[in-house]
Amino acid sequence: MKEKPNIIHLGGEHTVTGSCHLLQAKGLNILVDCGLAQGDDSVMPMESWPVRASEIDYLFLTHAHIDHIGRVPELIESGFKGEIICSHATKALLIPMLRDALSFTGKSRQQVQYLEKSVDELSWGFEYRETFSLKKGIEFKLGNAGHILGSCFVWFKFPLKAGGDYTVIFSGDLGCSNTPILPDPDRPDSCDLLVLESTYGDRNHEGRKSRIEVLRKILGRALDDGGIVYIPAFSLGRTQELIYELDRIGTKVPVFIDSPLGLEITKIYSRLDSFWDKEAKELKAKGDHPIDFKNLYSVERFRDHKRLLEMDGPAPVPSSGATGQAVIIAGSGMCTGGRIVDHLRHGLGDPRNDIFFVGYQAKGTPGRDIVRYSQRPGGYVVLDGEKFDIKARVHALSGYSAHADQNELLEWVASMPEKPGRIKLVHGEARAQKVLGKELVRRLDGRR
Ligand SMILES: [Zn+2]
Repeated sequence: MKEKPNIIHLGGEHTVTGSCHLLQAKGLNILVDCGLAQGDDSVMPMESWPVRASEIDYLFLTHAHIDHIGRVPELIESGFKGEIICSHATKALLIPMLRDALSFTGKSRQQVQYLEKSVDELSWGFEYRETFSLKKGIEFKLGNAGHILGSCFVWFKFPLKAGGDYTVIFSGDLGCSNTPILPDPDRPDSCDLLVLESTYGDRNHEGRKSRIEVLRKILGRALDDGGIVYIPAFSLGRTQELIYELDRIGTKVPVFIDSPLGLEITKIYSRLDSFWDKEAKELKAKGDHPIDFKNLYSVERFRDHKRLLEMDGPAPVPSSGATGQAVIIAGSGMCTGGRIVDHLRHGLGDPRNDIFFVGYQAKGTPGRDIVRYSQRPGGYVVLDGEKFDIKARVHALSGYSAHADQNELLEWVASMPEKPGRIKLVHGEARAQKVLGKELVRRLDGRR
C-alpha cells in the first residue's frame, strides 16, 4: 500500500457541480462530498467507482448545497453504511435539502422516509476548529468556509509509517469576505496537499461592497411605477442574504418569500444564531432580527401562491394589504422550475415589472435566456414549452456570488503559515483553473 493518501476525483474535478472525491489511506476509503451534477456537467456513475458504496468508511460533507450532497440517497441505496461527518449546521440543513430534492424523483413516501431516517442516523455534526480522531490514527478538523451556513473546509492528518505525517485540506466551496450573516472564512493551517476550488479562478467580483446601495437604488426605481420585482433565488444561502439586505435597506413594500424550502431554511438560519457574524448578532441583541422584518410575508401553501399570482387584483394575502407593488423571492435560482416559473409566466409581459438576477445563470437555463434576450427587441423565453415575450425590465446584479473570487482565493492560500506542498485545483472550468494556477505560482513563489 502506498504511504501517502491516494485521491481519485469521482466528480467535480473540472466542473463546478457534482463534487465527489475519494481519499484512500491506511486501508480506509474516505469520501469528500457526494453531489449531483447540474446542467451539462457529468459525474462518474457509482457502478464505475473503484470501490463499492459499502466499502466507504466515512463521508465528509463540506456543505448542504445539492451539488455537494445530492447523491447521498443514491449512496445509501447502494449500500453505504459508514459515518457521515459534517458541521452542526450542515447536519441541520441536510434533511430538508434532501427531502426537497427527493420530492422530484418519484420515490414513494416510504422510500423517502427510509432515506431520511438513514441520513439522520448515519450523520454527525461536529464543531469547527477542533481536532477529532478517525480509525487508524487519522485526525480531522473542520474550518469555517464562509460560503453558506455550516459550510466547512476539511483538514486531514495521516500518520506515516516512517514517522511524521501527511496533511491534506479540501477547501469545499469557499465564501467571500463580508457575506451577510456569515463570518469570513477561517484561516487555513498549512498542509502537504491542498485540494482547492477554482469557480472564479479567472475573475474578481465587481461592486461587491456597494451592492446594497445598488440594490437600494434599482429597487426604488423598479417599484416607482407600481410594478412587481421578481427575484429568482436559491433557497439555501441566497434567499437569507436577500432578506437580510432588504431588511437593512428598510424596504417599505411587502416582500414575499414564495418558497416552502426557502422558508424552512430561513427558520434554520434564524435558529442557529451562534453561527452568525458579529454584525448579525449585534442586530439581534438590539432587538432587530436580521432575517425578519415587519413587511416580510411567508407564502407556504400552494393556495397562497396561486393568490399571489393574481396580484393585480385585490390584496393577495389579506394581512399584507398589498396592491400590486411588491418584491417576490422564489426558486429556482436559474428559473429551471419551481414557483418562480409561474410568476414569470404571469409577469414577464408587463413593462412595469422588473426581474433581478442575483446568481450565476448556467448555459441552457431559462434564466440565462431571459438575461440574454431581454436586451433584444422582440426578445422572448420558452417556459414549459410555451413562448413568453419579455417586456419586464431585466437586471443582472453583480456582486452577489457566494464564491470567493480570484483575489480571495489567492489571499486564503497565502494566509497559510507555510505554503502548501502541492495544490490540486478542482471545482472550476478549465480556463478558470489555468488562470488561477498561474496566479498561484506567481503569488506563492519565493515563499517557503
Ligand atoms: Zn455551494
